[in-house]
Amino acid sequence: MHDRSDASEALGTPPRRTLSLRSVVVRTYVPAVVGSVLSLVVLAVVALVLSVSVRPHLSQLRQAATAAGQAHDAMLDEETGVRGYLATGEKDFLQPYLSGQALRTAADGELVTAVGGRPGLLRDAVSVVQSQQAWQDQWATPSTDGSWNPLSHGGGAAGATSLAVHLNEGKALFDSYRAVDAHLQSALADEVASAEGSYQRALLAAVLALAVIGVVSLLGLVRGSRRLQRQVVAPVRDLTATVGQVARGDLSPRPGVPSIVDEVAALSHDVAGMTTALADRMKLAADREDALVRHGARLELVLELSRGLSESLSLRYTSLHLLSAVRRLAGADRSDLWLRSQDRDELVRYDVAGADDRTPAADSDADAGSAEPIDVGIGAIGRAARYGRAISLDESRDSQAEDSGAGGVAIPLVVGSQVIGVLALTPPAGGTLDLELIDALIMQGASALQAAQLHSDVEEQSRRDSLTGLANRRQFDEDLSENVARAARYARQLSLVMIDLDHFKQINDTYGHQRGDEVLQDVAGIVVRGIRSVDTAYRYGGEELCVLMPETGSDDACQIAERLRAQVEASFPWARRSPITLSAGVAELGHDAEGPALIGAADRALYAAKRNGRNRVECELDASSGT
Ligand code: GH3
Ligand code: MG
Ligand code: MG
Repeated sequence: MHDRSDASEALGTPPRRTLSLRSVVVRTYVPAVVGSVLSLVVLAVVALVLSVSVRPHLSQLRQAATAAGQAHDAMLDEETGVRGYLATGEKDFLQPYLSGQALRTAADGELVTAVGGRPGLLRDAVSVVQSQQAWQDQWATPSTDGSWNPLSHGGGAAGATSLAVHLNEGKALFDSYRAVDAHLQSALADEVASAEGSYQRALLAAVLALAVIGVVSLLGLVRGSRRLQRQVVAPVRDLTATVGQVARGDLSPRPGVPSIVDEVAALSHDVAGMTTALADRMKLAADREDALVRHGARLELVLELSRGLSESLSLRYTSLHLLSAVRRLAGADRSDLWLRSQDRDELVRYDVAGADDRTPAADSDADAGSAEPIDVGIGAIGRAARYGRAISLDESRDSQAEDSGAGGVAIPLVVGSQVIGVLALTPPAGGTLDLELIDALIMQGASALQAAQLHSDVEEQSRRDSLTGLANRRQFDEDLSENVARAARYARQLSLVMIDLDHFKQINDTYGHQRGDEVLQDVAGIVVRGIRSVDTAYRYGGEELCVLMPETGSDDACQIAERLRAQVEASFPWARRSPITLSAGVAELGHDAEGPALIGAADRALYAAKRNGRNRVECELDASSGT
């Protein structure tokens, strides 16, 4: 179980007095139990008091009162009997007196016994018995035992007077008895009333005590059950709702009903913790899923972009595709490709606009303009090439911060142990580059670029003559048909100059084959320098060269050819034994003519020049088909 005081401290709330579930339940039922026990105790005490004290006391008093009444009745009977006897002298009247005496004696005995424990009443009872005894001894007994005979006092007035006196004496004694007896009767009545009052008060007190205990117990029970409701039932019900909500997948936090009951609070704390942990896990899982989806999408992009890299061996296509792919993947605003030149010591920016390879559909950095070559090891791009690692383009940045891509980055294109170039990526204004997975693309891009470069080199070599550096016959054939087609389509002029060195066999023989090669190279140089930038010179074969001149008529071509001829003638002063000269035949493309016809016309002109003495230029004006 959790330490809730720790938990509440962690939550920043002051620790509260807490209770265990057991003590809450016990506290709820304590008033009922205590009330019941108290009620039983009260009932037992009352029963005990009534049965041991009040009731016997009351019954004794009642018994005393009854005995006192019986004694009084007996006295009345006795007095009546004595008076009847005195009045009549009839012995029969003494019968009530005699029986009353026995009854009175018994009643007096009961009376004295009943009030024995109460000195006041006993004193009164003794006074009553004494006054009875005085009446008995002083009046009744002398009146009946014959010692006072009314007849013995003689009849007549004297006798009557004596009887009256005697009766008065009896009456005085009886009155004295009556006064004492009345006092006793009254005292007994008071005592009985008092005892009955005590009895009723005891019962009332018991009822009141039970009522108070009942009410207090009930209040305690209500309070306890409210606490049970508030601290246990409501929080548990709330927890049940929370668990149900979690079960339905709703993990939004609920305020919860607070409880000071340890177990409920711990349960509530644990359920909240469980819900939070579950929500955290679900968020983590969702984040991971998002990240995986993003990563997957980027991998797909890398794959798609990579696929494009292996589509072509064209340097231009590959370069453009790599630039575009890298820009897309990294979110770059601009990407530049710097290729390491042949001598390996400088980097030349790949001029996308200037490249004459076929163009892929991708966009280009044509707006980049030209840029000066960069020495390897100088600047961010140069250092990226030298050290083979990414360098921030922002020179003010820490050199370790390259991977942030915030200020742009120069990334080397490494194949094996060689850096073949550098990609410079510039982030959009205020943005950064996303360089995740860029390495995979760049690695493949570097290989594709190198393959394209090699292919381009081979291709270049296959179209160039190795001795003179001029385009070769293969290139000439392609260019010729292209130029012929363009000229025909746009009705433009096109001229061809065929050049053949004169007596070259003899030159070889005279100066050696090596020197012959050098002469060929020199003449090629003179021709290249002597023609315009739109013209192209080719090595047609052996010691034969040719020049394609677009947008040029035969007159101009002849002039240029003549100039070349003159320059060659003047360029080899050392060759006196076998002078170095050339003959040239010029032809212009005629109407409806094709490449072979143009070559044929130029050839014919060349042969004419040879025939006419060499070291000269002949023009074939019309190279129409069939002529
Ligand atoms: P013409 O004035 O009639 O053209 O005479 P020519 O000797 O130049 O003509 P020919 O066709 O009989 O000879 C061409 C020579 O050019 C033969 C060959 O040895 C030489 N030649 C061809 N190619 C080369 C080359 O690459 N280097 C050298 N040194 N000589 C070459
Ligand atoms: Mg020849
Ligand atoms: Mg020749």
